[in-house]
Amino acid sequence: PTFSDFGLHPSILQAVAETGYTTPTPIQAQAMPMVMDGRDVMGAAQTGTGKTAAFTLPILHRLMQFANTSASPARHPVRALILTPTRELADQVADSVTTYAKFTPLRSTVVFGGVDIGPQRDALRRGCEILIATPGRLLDHVEQKNVNLSQVGILVLDEADRMLDMGFLPDLDRIVRLLPAKRQGLLFSATFSNEIRKLGRSYLSNPAEIEV
Ligand code: AMP
Repeated sequence: PTFSDFGLHPSILQAVAETGYTTPTPIQAQAMPMVMDGRDVMGAAQTGTGKTAAFTLPILHRLMQFANTSASPARHPVRALILTPTRELADQVADSVTTYAKFTPLRSTVVFGGVDIGPQRDALRRGCEILIATPGRLLDHVEQKNVNLSQVGILVLDEADRMLDMGFLPDLDRIVRLLPAKRQGLLFSATFSNEIRKLGRSYLSNPAEIEV
């Protein structure tokens, strides 16, 4: 297939065209139609497989229904929450989101620990449809009431195996309890261990499983 076969919103397709990608990778070819359909997906994929675009492009497509050019923060609630284990991964995902969303009015913000919380708080208060975060710092922002997660319709756990290894399960549980029950869930992990399957069963509903 080519990227135009998926029926992505034209403004997203335009950004893909600018990157120069011609052919979807296997995880993209398998995951994108299901994510665009609103299904929950568990994907076993390493870094380097194109997994970031596999979830980012369909999420942006789905969020285009909420796109607006209003300056008011209230018109830009968080609708997609992408959790990552590390600052480095959060930054990489945020760069991809910025690239693919550049022709849309959708806003994104990234928050992670180890740096000043003030600028992140200011960015959150301006509003963003897509929030990329590490779990601990996100909870700090929740406690400070810098962000409201009640409109999150899409949750992504990226490198979920590393999040478990790093002991983030209690934080993940706390975060997921703040989200609407009716939501789309996507989980990516290098491998599917018993723990990852258990996580998938508790956070996702009837997920499609993809292994590349
Ligand atoms: P990821 O696995 O998401 O970390 O992506 C690995 C690298 O592959 C990134 O540098 C992407 O920019 C690149 N990439 C993603 N999708 C494609 C594609 N369909 N064709 C060529 N490169 C891609």
